[in-house]
Amino acid sequence: MKFELLIAAFLQSLGIVFLATLPYEMVLTRVKGLAGRRMVSGLVLTACALGSMMVPVTLADGLIFDMRHVFLVLAATYGGLPAAILMAAVTSAYRFFVGGSGMLAGVLGILISTFVGIAIARWNTIGGPTPLRRLALMGLCASLCLAALALLPFSTAAAVLLQVGPTFVIANLLGVILTAKMLDREQGRVLREQALAEDAMRDPLTGLVNRRSFDRRAPQMVAKAKGQGRPSSLFLLDVDHFKRVNDTYGHPAGDAVLRSVADILSARAGISGMTARLGGEEFAVLLPGVDEVSARRKAERLRGEIAGASHDVGSATVEVTVSIGIETIADDGRSFQEAFDRADAALYRAKKAGRNRVTAARAA
Ligand code: GH3
Ligand code: MG
Ligand code: MG
Repeated sequence: MKFELLIAAFLQSLGIVFLATLPYEMVLTRVKGLAGRRMVSGLVLTACALGSMMVPVTLADGLIFDMRHVFLVLAATYGGLPAAILMAAVTSAYRFFVGGSGMLAGVLGILISTFVGIAIARWNTIGGPTPLRRLALMGLCASLCLAALALLPFSTAAAVLLQVGPTFVIANLLGVILTAKMLDREQGRVLREQALAEDAMRDPLTGLVNRRSFDRRAPQMVAKAKGQGRPSSLFLLDVDHFKRVNDTYGHPAGDAVLRSVADILSARAGISGMTARLGGEEFAVLLPGVDEVSARRKAERLRGEIAGASHDVGSATVEVTVSIGIETIADDGRSFQEAFDRADAALYRAKKAGRNRVTAARAA
């Protein structure tokens, strides 16, 4: 009888895990980095633990069994120390609220699983799926909480152990493995999707934003700055006589120069700016919040830095110059495309005027 109830509680808990999968994946796609993933995992596991505690098997008044230990043991590995502490606090509070003769044993059991989970998490390498052997260990350790039965009278503890012990151990083992597999699978899927999306927006040679992504994001960044009443400045750059670099040193050396120029550009654009490779030896730098006066100064400094650099291409060092066309976009109703065309025309004039120079778009 109790055996069947415990199986039902186990299946209900798996149902909770299954239900949590969809919101888990949805939130996971919106967070970046390990810290964000851990926070989301911690919250989902806490919700699962609470959900499981709401569908317990009641052995006697206040003596309840559920699958909370599955989630308690996994908390530290998947959510980190804060998640483990949060879950211990929330589940203890809930157990306290439920009350009954098994309350103290219940809270002690929660603490045991939390400490076991934290201890096992210390051996885990950060990120990536947890190996099956480690999961099996965690699954078995999720039943160490049975030691808390020592707080009950001996005859009660012995009866409980006989009634639910073996089923509880097996259910915890399977529960830990299945829940961890769900978490690993969803995390893996989201990470793969994020990596693919990242690849699709990058230029493979330089790692800069590619043309397609620049065309999509630049107008958004300019509009955002406009909304804050700030201008944005756009630099369009073209490496001068780049064909000669390829002709003299070979195509791989040309590639190395492009990478080196790209590194300088992205270092100068900073985290608020966007640097893109528009194609070939043409680049764009978009600087939100930068006005016309500082744009000229920055562009001139950039030009000087590139002209003064020796680009290491393995067999030799190569020097190149760039021509830069600049345009500052204020809140004047002009579209981003118009601003781009004006910067492009300025770049063309810089080339005509002899290269290795900065030319600003003409006032309309
Ligand atoms: P200008 O000063 O007028 O810009 O002269 P340029 O030689 O830089 O311009 P042109 O458009 O004549 O030549 C651009 C060269 O850039 C030709 C092309 O082979 C080279 N190029 C384009 N993409 C790549 C690339 O990915 N790697 C290498 N190594 N070269 C490239
Ligand atoms: Mg060109
Ligand atoms: Mg060129």
